[in-house]
Parts: sequence; C-alpha cells; structure tokens
Amino acid sequence: MNLCVVGVGYVGLVAATCLAESGNDVVAVDSDAGKIERLQAGEIPIYEPGLEELVGRNLREGRLRFSTGLAEAVPSAEVIFIAVGTPPGPNGAADLSAVFAVADEIGRRLSGYKLVVLKSTVPVGTAEKVEAIIRESAGEAFGRAPEFEVASNPEFMKEGAAIDDFMRPDRVVVGVASDRAAAILRELYAPLVRTEKPILVMDRRSAEMTKYVSNAMLAAKISFINEMANLCERLDADIAAVRRGIGFDSRIGFQFLFPGIGYGGSCFPKDVDALIRLGTEHNYQARILAAVQAVNADQKRALVDKVRGHFQNRLQGKTLALWGLAFKPQTDDMREAPAQEILRELLALGARFRVHDPVAMAEAKKLFGESLTYCDNPYQALEGASALLIATEWNEFRRPNFRRIQELLLEPVIFDGRNLYEPEVMARWGFTYYSIGRRPVNEP
Ligand code: NAD
Repeated sequence: MNLCVVGVGYVGLVAATCLAESGNDVVAVDSDAGKIERLQAGEIPIYEPGLEELVGRNLREGRLRFSTGLAEAVPSAEVIFIAVGTPPGPNGAADLSAVFAVADEIGRRLSGYKLVVLKSTVPVGTAEKVEAIIRESAGEAFGRAPEFEVASNPEFMKEGAAIDDFMRPDRVVVGVASDRAAAILRELYAPLVRTEKPILVMDRRSAEMTKYVSNAMLAAKISFINEMANLCERLDADIAAVRRGIGFDSRIGFQFLFPGIGYGGSCFPKDVDALIRLGTEHNYQARILAAVQAVNADQKRALVDKVRGHFQNRLQGKTLALWGLAFKPQTDDMREAPAQEILRELLALGARFRVHDPVAMAEAKKLFGESLTYCDNPYQALEGASALLIATEWNEFRRPNFRRIQELLLEPVIFDGRNLYEPEVMARWGFTYYSIGRRPVNEP
C-alpha cells in the first residue's frame, strides 16, 4: 500500500519504518526541515534500539522516504497517518493545533478516496473534528470534498521497545465509521498480527478513549504500588515481600507494580491530565485520576526527602553522584523524568552533581547545561561524591562493582530510587542504603 505518515517523532518514525519493513511504500513527512535532512542522511534523531538499522535498510531498498511537504505525499497515498505531537496545553487539555493544521492541509490536497488515520493520542471526539476540518478545507479547495474517511488507530508502543511493540502488538485498536475503513486497516495490519493477536474494531470515540484508559490504568498501578510502599516504610513492613504476596494472585499479577520514584515521560503525565480535563469539561471530577497524579508528583521527590533527611539539609557545596537521567531505561527521553525533579531541588539547595546515563547525557545537557558535571562512565561520577543516587533502572547499574563504589565515594551512602539492590547485601558491604518501601538493614 502507498502510505503517508505525518509527524516523524518517536511514534511516527517507528510506525513509518515498521510499515515500510512490512512491504508498504511510505513517505514520512515532518515540518522540521532539519530533522528531515538528518533522516535523509540516515541519521536517527532519537535513541531507540534497532531503529537505525531498520531505517537504513528501508531507505536503501526504497520503501521509505522522508519529506517536508505533504504536497508530494498526499496525492499518491491511500492511507495518511497523523502522528504529530499532542502536548499538554496550559490547562492540561491536549493541544491539538498540530493535528488540526495537518488536517487542514490534507483537505487542501485531497484527490480520490483517502483514509486519514489518527495515530496521535487525542481527546475523545477528535476524529469527528478532524473530519469536519478536512471537509471544510477540501470544500474550499475543490468546491466539494472528494471522498475520504477518518479513522482512529491509537498507538500503544513503549519507548525502548517500540519496534517490537509495533511489529508484534498485543492488540491493534481500530476505530472506524465504515466497513471500508475497517477492511483497509485490517489488510494493513494483517502482517503484524500473524500470532493470532486481535485487531479490535470499534467506534472511533471508544478507540480514542481506549488509549487514555490504557495509560491511566498503567499510571494508576504505579501510583498505587508507590503509595503502598510509602505506607510500608511507615508501618515497618517490606514492599518487596508484600509485592510477592499480592503478585502471585492471578487477579493482581506483577506487571507495572514496581515501587520507585514515580512515572515520567511524554505520555502518562500528559494523558492522565488530558483525561481529567475531559472529565471536567463534561461535569465529572475524576478523583482517582487526580490522586494518581498527586501521588506521582510527591513520589518524584521521595529520594530528595531521604537525601535531605540523611544530610540534615546541609547540602550546600556537597557533591552527589546521580546514575540515570532518562525517565526509564532504553530511551534518551528526559521529558518529566524524576531525575529532573531530583536535580532541580537538590541543586537549589546548593548540592553539586556528577551525573552519568548510558544515552541521555545529550538531553541532560540541553536541560541543565553547565550546572552538572557529565561523566563518561558510572564510576567516574562517584569520584569525590558524598553519596550515590539512582534514578533510572538501566541494566548496567544492576550488578555494579560495590567494592569500587565504596572506594570512590567519600561516604558509603546509596539512595536507590529503583530498588535495584538487596538491603541485606548492601548492609554486608557496609553501605547506608536507602530504597523505596523497604526496611533498612543495619550493618552486621
Ligand atoms: P514527538 O514530539 O516525538 O514528535 C512529533 C513530531 O511531529 C515532531 O517531529 C514534530 O516536528 C512533528 N510535527 C509537529 N507539527 C507538525 C506539522 N504541522 N506537520 C508535520 N509535522 C509536525 O511526539 P511523539 O512522542 O512521537 O508522539 C506523537 C503522538 O503519539 C502524541 O500524541 C503522543 O501522545 C502519542 N504517543 C506517543 C508515544 C511515545 O511513546 N512517545 C506512544 C504512544 C502514543
């Protein structure tokens, strides 16, 4: 099929590349000319495992092209995906200006039947609005709108595992207003669901809502286990034991129930806010969602409170090491990352930071400039530091050389925001070890 994907960010780039990989001819369009130039030269603007190789192959084999203009892409495309950003506006509602601008432009360039597919995460009712915009702009351009339809096809990929998620989805959700649109999307996704995973066809509003509910549920699980961890700390119980105690219950399970320092990234915070906002616009106060966000905001500060307590607020001039800057492993994305909160708060109290992250250092430099010392490896970050803080659960931090950590730190103190180590093991090494929701173990 001839496809056009508009918006070449995390979602658009992965979707365009994977759809090309499954045999389609794809033109990926973005208004950022610099980004398109770099992509045309085979340079990948984001860190996503496996993506560079896949983009290179599909570019070489001519199934994938990058462009700044819809003019060349729309006429030949049978399906046009809209995958532009929908960042939070000032009141928490999703800012749809990019989606609407693209819809307007598509309308002006329609020729023959097109299926326009909303892949961006958008509020319930957006497909209808996009349809109205295209109809109006096509009407202005042609006198009468050529045939087209708008479908919703929310994306559930995870940054860091995006290719696998797109190529082998748990399910594909498709919101349509006609059998014709459903048939096109079934055909397009058929190569990706050969392991009997379902293509769930529903109405467009339910598809739009499914994406928000999915992210809200995952965010709620994280805030729930974090709240339980906070209670465990105060009640002298151990969240690790409790987690096992509940996780083997098949109604509960283990997934997404890892205590830590909260969720970040470009999706959960903004999508939960957008759903709360949709509720208020329809006279409903989403109290659970508000609590999910409030617990998360506090949780991002959990390590800060422990650091302040340990050093009795005397942080002026103190050097600290921080491992992990990205909001989660396998990505360089620092949007809403707990590390940002930790750095801002402790820098404001006079602390100095030596930081390391396997891939997010360039992002950190954009945000923090010269106010941090950037270290090429984790051990270099420890030199002259009074404690180690851990904000991201990168695999390379899971089995470090504890002897080396002890030798390099001025004081043997670790604040672990991701519960990477066993308190008993840390006690044996002689560390003062703070983690989330677990009992500290004294040195033997
Ligand atoms: P992003 O910010 O990484 O990329 C958006 C891209 O759209 C940018 O390259 C930008 O230049 C381009 N753009 C903006 N306006 C444009 C216009 N008028 N014409 C052409 N291009 C334009 O965003 P993202 O993370 O890829 O997210 C895109 C959408 O997908 C959002 O709605 C997001 O909520 C949703 N989503 C994201 C993820 C994720 O993991 N990042 C997962 C699922 C869904």
